[in-house]
Amino acid sequence: MGYDYDSDNIFAKILRGEIPNDTVLETAHSLAFNDIGPQAPVHVLVLPKGAYVTWDHFAAEASAEEVMDFTRAIHAVIEKLGLDPASGGGGYRLIMNTGPDGGQEVAHLHAHILGGKDIGKMVSDG
Ligand code: 5GP
Repeated sequence: MGYDYDSDNIFAKILRGEIPNDTVLETAHSLAFNDIGPQAPVHVLVLPKGAYVTWDHFAAEASAEEVMDFTRAIHAVIEKLGLDPASGGGGYRLIMNTGPDGGQEVAHLHAHILGGKDIGKMVSDG
């Protein structure tokens, strides 16, 4: 067990510049880009640049600077896209799928920001 990072995952390749991405925002320790298969009018992925598999891996081992950067990068994307209700936006859903039960497909931590419409039920019945 433990956090075993596979540097061949698709987001590692994007972070190395081997695969293109539609960048929304970049900071010192984080990258945000549009999801290739959007599930809503707004569907942005935010990643820490460091080699972290899951949120738990990141929360346990990332530096304070990385944690702050990732948190603020998510906020900056939300602000940039006008989603924050406190700024007149319609709101959004923030998701971090983790492991098999969470439906995580790519083994590099990423937050999904979904918005631009009523995102609907939080969990499907399936
Ligand atoms: P997960 O299920 O791991 O939380 O989500 C992975 C997400 O990555 C999916 O929403 C999928 O559409 C997206 N994705 C997979 N491959 C690529 C890619 O090459 N580029 C981009 N921009 N998104 C990708």
